[in-house]
This record gives sequence, C-alpha cells and structure tokens, in this order.
Amino acid sequence: MIKKIELLKKIREFLILNLEIKKLMQDLNVDDDIYEAYEEVTKIVREPNIKLYRKYYDAIKEIFYEEYGKKRKDIPWYPKIDYEKCKNCKKCVSFCLRGVYDVENEKVVVKYPYSCIVNCNACSIMCCENNAIIFPDEKIPRVK
Ligand code: SF4
Ligand code: SF4
Repeated sequence: MIKKIELLKKIREFLILNLEIKKLMQDLNVDDDIYEAYEEVTKIVREPNIKLYRKYYDAIKEIFYEEYGKKRKDIPWYPKIDYEKCKNCKKCVSFCLRGVYDVENEKVVVKYPYSCIVNCNACSIMCCENNAIIFPDEKIPRVK
C-alpha cells in the first residue's frame, strides 16, 4: 500500500507540474507548436494514468493531503451528475485525466469520485452546454 501511495503521489506531482507548465506557456504566449507538444505529452500519459488510478483506487483514498490536513477519502470534493440535464454524451469520460467517470449499462457514472483533483472543476466547465456536472459551492480550504 505504501508504495502504491508513493507512486500515485509522484503521478499527482507530475500532472500538477504539467498543468503549471501549460499555464505558464499561455501566460508567456509561447508558440502554438510548443504548447501543442505539451498537450501531446498529456495525451500520451492519459491512458496508463487512468489505468493506474483505477487499479490503485484503494490507495488513492488513503493518501494524506498535507495541504488539506485530511486523507483523500475524507475530503468531500468530487462531481455529481444531474441526470435531468445529462445528455449521456460521454465527453466527461474522455476528458478527465483521472478517469473519474465511467460508463455502466450505457450510462455515464461517477465511478471513482476520490480520484478527482481537489478543487478542480474543469469537467463542469467543459460540460457547460449541458450544465449537468455539479460540484460543491465552496472550494476546500487549505490548512497550509
Ligand atoms: S459531459 Fe455532461 S452531458 Fe455529457 S455525459 Fe458528461 S455529464 Fe452528461
Ligand atoms: S474536476 Fe477535474 S479531476 Fe475532477 S472529475 Fe472533473 S476533470 Fe476530472
């Protein structure tokens, strides 16, 4: 379990770093081809990343997040689907790098809620046309 947690922490650091690099590139207005190269990196790691996150879901819930002072399973941040609005387009399934969503009996479900990045709500913005993804109103406060 400890090694699983260490591996997942490293992946988390990698993903955060990748996002930070891309944000800096946007701020610096770097050439599109360089930005796109980093998009490709994200795509390459996507599939193995999702597989690992699903395989080690037991370990994800036990990761202690120092910045929030809690284990992931005790941090109530994850999406919920409003099925009155959801069109079952499955865009969220392919969009999330953590593999939070899955399809069961042809229906999109939030199968791995604690794989969601705390305070991320990117998929709810992506789904804005349908507005079917709900997150808590308040972000989770950091303790340090
Ligand atoms: S992207 Fe939105 S509308 Fe499409 S399946 Fe996901 S929750 Fe439903
Ligand atoms: S908020 Fe981010 S990490 Fe969480 S489910 Fe949506 S895309 Fe995935």
